[in-house]
Amino acid sequence: MSADVIVIGAGVTGGAIAWHLARDGARVALIDAAGPACRPSASWASAGGLRSQGRHAADQPLTLMAAARWPVLGAELGADLEESFGGHLHLAETGEECAAIEARIAADRAGGLAIERLEAAQIREIAPEITPRALLGAYTPGDGQAHPGRVARAFAEAAEQDGAQLRFGQPATLLRDGDRVTGVAFADGTTLRAATTVVAAGAWTQALLAPLGLDLPIRARGLQMLLSDLAPRDLLAPTVTAVGRNLSLKQLRSGAFMMGGRWFARPTGRGQETAPLDAHAAKQWAGAAAILPRLARHRLVHQWAGTEAQSIDGDPFIGRSRPGLYLACGFSNHGFQICPAVGALVARDLRDGAEPLLAPFAPGRLAPDAAQLAAFRAEPILEVA
Ligand SMILES: Cc1cc2nc3c(=O)[nH]c(=O)nc-3n(C[C@H](O)[C@H](O)[C@H](O)COP(=O)(O)OP(=O)(O)OC[C@H]3O[C@@H](n4cnc5c(N)ncnc54)[C@H](O)[C@@H]3O)c2cc1C
Repeated sequence: MSADVIVIGAGVTGGAIAWHLARDGARVALIDAAGPACRPSASWASAGGLRSQGRHAADQPLTLMAAARWPVLGAELGADLEESFGGHLHLAETGEECAAIEARIAADRAGGLAIERLEAAQIREIAPEITPRALLGAYTPGDGQAHPGRVARAFAEAAEQDGAQLRFGQPATLLRDGDRVTGVAFADGTTLRAATTVVAAGAWTQALLAPLGLDLPIRARGLQMLLSDLAPRDLLAPTVTAVGRNLSLKQLRSGAFMMGGRWFARPTGRGQETAPLDAHAAKQWAGAAAILPRLARHRLVHQWAGTEAQSIDGDPFIGRSRPGLYLACGFSNHGFQICPAVGALVARDLRDGAEPLLAPFAPGRLAPDAAQLAAFRAEPILEVA
C-alpha cells in the first residue's frame, strides 16, 4: 500500500497536519500506535489552554494565525471542541512582578497582539473570584480553552472524511532505502510506502529516530494536572497564570477547576507513562488556591500526568530532516494553541516548499555539545523537597 504522505502520530499535531493535507487533495495516511489523544500522550493530558500572550518570538506569527482560527475551527471540523473564549489573564502580586507584566505587554504589542493592561479593580470586574492580592494583569480577550482530546479526534475524523486512511492500534517503525525514508513498517509485518513520512510522535520521537542515527536535542518529560470537584459554572471566565507562580488555572464547562503549570511527573518505567508526584500536587493546589481563594472550599478529585518531548531551546522542530523525512515534534508543552497553524503551514510547506514562518523551527538549527545535552536530559524532576 502507498500514500503521498504518512503522518505518524494522531495527536493534535499529526491530526492537524493530516487533515490539512487531505483537504488539499493529498493521499494521506494517519497512523498511531493507539489512537487520537490516548494515554499517556500530551494531547491526552493537555490543559487545553489557548494562550496567545507571553509566547516565544518565533511562535508569535503562528500564535496569531491560530488565535484567528480557533473561533471557527469547531464549525470547520463539524465538531464540539468544548471551546470557550473568556480570555487569558496573567497576574502580578508584587511590585517587581508588575514590571514583568509591563514588559510582557510591551513585547506582545510589538509582536502585533491585542493585549490589555488591567488594574486591580478591572481584574475583579472580569474575574471576581480572583484574589484581591492581584495588583496588575495582562489580558488577552480573544484567548480561551478547548478540549484537546475532542480536537485530536475531530482532526482525525475530518481527515478521514476528506479521504485520509486511518490506521490505529500498532506502533510503526521507519523504513529506509539508504539515506531516504520510504515509509513505515507495522508490528504485524505489513508496510506502507510514501514519498514523505511526517514524524509527529511527541515523546516517542527519540526512539523512532534513533535507528536513523538522528538524535534531536529533546527529552521526554511528564507534566501533571489536577482537577477539583464541581463548582457552580461560570465563576471564572478567563484562563489564568501568574508571574510568581508555577500555575495554569481554568474552570471547565463542567464547573470543575483544572490546574496545571510546569510540574514534572515521575517516570513509571512503563514506556512513556508518567505519574503525578504528591509533593508537587500539594504545592500545585496551594498555588492555585492563593490565586483563587474559593478553592479552599473544594477538593482534589482527580490527577493525571502525560508525557511530551521538550526541546533544549523550548521551540519545536518542524521541517525536512532527511530525504523523505519531515519532523513536527518537540512542542515543549505549548503545542496545543498553535496546532491549527502548524497543520496549515506544514501542509503548505510540503506542497509549495520553503514556508518562511516555519524557518525558525528548522530541525538542524541547534548543535548543542554533548555536555549541554546531557545536562538538559539529566535535569531533576523534583522541584520541591
Ligand atoms: C500536562 C500538559 C498540559 C499542557 N497544556 C497545554 C496548554 O494549556 N496549552 C498548550 O498550548 N499546550 C499545552 N500542552 C502541550 C500540548 O498539549 C502538546 O504540545 C501537544 O498536545 C502535542 O501534541 P502532539 O500531537 O505533538 O503529541 P502527542 O499528543 O504526544 O501525540 C503523539 C502521538 O504519536 C503516537 N506515536 C508515537 N510513536 C509512534 C509510533 N512509533 N507509531 C505510531 N504512533 C506513534 C502516540 O501514540 C501519540 O498518539 C500541554 C502538555 C501537557 C503534557
